[in-house]
Amino acid sequence: MKGFPDYSAWLESRYGAKTYRVSVDAGFSCPNREAGRSRGGCSFCGSRGSRSPYLGAEEEDPAAGRNASIAAQVAGGMAFLRRRYKARQFLLYFQAFSGTHAPAAELKAIYDYALSLADFRQLIVSTRPDCVDAEKAGLLAGYARPDRDVWVELGLQSAREQTLTRIRRGHGRAEFENAFRLLRERGIKIAVHLVFGLPGENTADIEASLEYLAGFAPEGVKIHNLHIVRGSALYDEFLAGELSLPCAARHIQYITRAFEILPKGTLFMRFTCDTPAELLAYPRRFPDKARFLRMLRS
Ligand code: SF4
Repeated sequence: MKGFPDYSAWLESRYGAKTYRVSVDAGFSCPNREAGRSRGGCSFCGSRGSRSPYLGAEEEDPAAGRNASIAAQVAGGMAFLRRRYKARQFLLYFQAFSGTHAPAAELKAIYDYALSLADFRQLIVSTRPDCVDAEKAGLLAGYARPDRDVWVELGLQSAREQTLTRIRRGHGRAEFENAFRLLRERGIKIAVHLVFGLPGENTADIEASLEYLAGFAPEGVKIHNLHIVRGSALYDEFLAGELSLPCAARHIQYITRAFEILPKGTLFMRFTCDTPAELLAYPRRFPDKARFLRMLRS
């Protein structure tokens, strides 16, 4: 498949230089994992909640202040991205767990501080649909400037209600629709996360999710191939013989349908999942990101 939009190239063209995300773990939690909830988190979620692999292990010193930790992550991330990728422009990315899961005043203090550390071209916050309300959407929209975009990455994973229940998402389509509306009404750009290969889903289910999402015309989408993470509930199901995972060729078929079904101009920001090797149980023979992209482009 040739000629699909390349996210890195899109960023470089938009910001005039090599542009990369600086991932920050600000210590947010997730309402789907907290004590008192019987669900115990999404069944595919490991203990790190999508924390960026390059951040390494969690902060060992609980006494370390949040701001000191954020400052260290930003400085370390920018130095790494400059050295490794010759990055010149940066996007601030709250990736781990649910980046709007705190009172709005606390969120404001965190976002304000992190944005003060560098001249970021984007604020990107990854979160769950049930962690977005009008106050938080308004707060986020207030960070947009002519030289800074605000994006929210909204986890949907599947639009099939049975699947959302099966994987213990703790929300349904109604929460997604409400969050999407609140963000879009305020001009925030939205990228939606989908997982292909979820338990019990076939090609028709994935196509139905894509058709549903096409109706919202999100600015971007992030696609993940299902990973079985050690310690997750899905790991137990996999060991029990309950699951099979799509191979790279099948994942390419799903992505091809996504290109066909989602509106032209949708930004495809990701095509595969990233899990640290020590946590990834399966698949073990899926091509790495660079090789998968070459396969996709061939
Ligand atoms: S919403 Fe995200 S962080 Fe929370 S349990 Fe699900 S995958 Fe993990």
